Amino acid sequence: MTRRSAFSPTFRVSSVTELTVSWLQEREIDGLLLDVDNTLLAPREKALDAAVLAWLEGLRQAQVPFGFVTNGRPDRVALVARVTGVPARPLAGKPLPFAFAREARRLGMPRHRIAMVGDQWWTDVVGGSAAGMQTILVNPLAPSRAPIVARLLQRLVR
Ligand SMILES: [Mg+2]
Repeated sequence: MTRRSAFSPTFRVSSVTELTVSWLQEREIDGLLLDVDNTLLAPREKALDAAVLAWLEGLRQAQVPFGFVTNGRPDRVALVARVTGVPARPLAGKPLPFAFAREARRLGMPRHRIAMVGDQWWTDVVGGSAAGMQTILVNPLAPSRAPIVARLLQRLVR
């Protein structure tokens, strides 16, 4: 039997591209909040990967609402906002609840039907869980630059 803490991710996948519209529907997830750095965009990349772009376009066509909750730098966040046409603000202050609350209001659906998707346990899983959302932990696109203590904690809960 596995023990699940409140701060274990609800789901784990390798990449956002595994989160197809039918995968989300089967799990009663109506909307997504997305981390940017190392979830959608690798640290040194200046453009979104074609597979990630196609996945975002698939969400848009299926009318699955999504938003961004990112602690990323303004230039990187502006890039994803421009490409998707979805407003995105940098420096969200995750895992604090403010940006999660703002984006949940913008999606206009109950929080338990929203999943926070990200590569870091401390900001994305703890932050999303504390905000009352489902959480989906993805593998980072490149080795994590999270502080060492956060990385150790992440390994303990995995
Ligand atoms: Mg990240």
